[in-house]
Amino acid sequence: MKAIRVLDFGGPEVLKIEEVPDLVPANDEVLVRVHAVGVNPVETYIRSGAYGNMVTPPYTPGSDAAGIVESVGANVREYAIGDRVYSDHTVKSAYAEFVVAKPHQLHRLPDNISCAQGAALGVPYATAHRALFGKANAKSGDYVLVHGASGAVGIAAVQLALHHGMKVIATASTSESRAKLETLGAQYVLDHSDDEHFSDAHGATCGHGVDVVLEMLANVNLGRDLPILAKNGRVIVIGSRGEATINPRDIMGRDGQILGMTLFNCPPDELQSIHAELVEGLGDGWLSPFIHHEYALQEAPQVHQSVMQNGTWGKIVLIP
Ligand code: NAP
Repeated sequence: MKAIRVLDFGGPEVLKIEEVPDLVPANDEVLVRVHAVGVNPVETYIRSGAYGNMVTPPYTPGSDAAGIVESVGANVREYAIGDRVYSDHTVKSAYAEFVVAKPHQLHRLPDNISCAQGAALGVPYATAHRALFGKANAKSGDYVLVHGASGAVGIAAVQLALHHGMKVIATASTSESRAKLETLGAQYVLDHSDDEHFSDAHGATCGHGVDVVLEMLANVNLGRDLPILAKNGRVIVIGSRGEATINPRDIMGRDGQILGMTLFNCPPDELQSIHAELVEGLGDGWLSPFIHHEYALQEAPQVHQSVMQNGTWGKIVLIP
């Protein structure tokens, strides 16, 4: 089968498509023919060597695949040949024509959701869910600022927050993305490339302040998020690409909190319950990932550049 291999850490050019041995599932594993693979920013950080202790080259990147069950090990009861599934982790491969996964790493893809959409679920939707509920403990009626709402995690967070009755302030840098966020149902849409949007966000809450900020770029925004928090407000740091300066008094005066999170730390039982709700929401239609662009598997180097660029809407996927 064909797979993308990283032979050594480095720039996007180290992603090479290669012929690798076919995968054979063990007795407790499932073999899935991949129809789409989600590309996440973290895979570019890992490829560059920034998370050197996580993997050792050579390796195949990725965790988020969607496709059709090709075969199952002798002890697998949960899935059968022909089932449509998506993964949140794999045992072997993701940027590849096939993946092998344990049953608990797979989830059923509802018929109304395409495989490309299924590839947008593993990291982005689970991250948004954990940030909003597992960390921020957000409730109906809360003002939630999704800071970076045009990306894969942000769109997921907007859909989850709206379904749960929150008042959503969503930011994006292009007018096209802001129009789409309005169509989704965000009450206020703001431009995060405009420095004035912090006071606009506070104003949008009629002086109450923002109860929850889901922050995709803390190094740029964290210091200015804190003064717009409501009393007991929480900033959940989901993404950051550098250092930030804050004034601690901005959280002291509000009994505020800054909480970090990474999906890698999510306990397995919490991840299972997150995906159970996601599958329900997908089937019922109130969750629906948006795809920015589909690329061929061999275009992985170009995709690792695109995923780090601003101004797009939704998820980038690879099609093997
Ligand atoms: P993505 O699809 O590439 O989206 C990136 C988002 O960041 C876009 O909405 C972009 O908006 C926004 N952005 C750019 N400049 C911004 C600014 N100054 N202020 C606020 N937002 C800004 O990436 P993603 O998959 O959604 O991930 C988002 C971030 O979360 C990444 O940094 C990623 O590494 C991180 N992440 C963390 C976890 C975790 O477990 N902690 C999990 C998944 C992702 P425009 O394009 O409209 O400018």
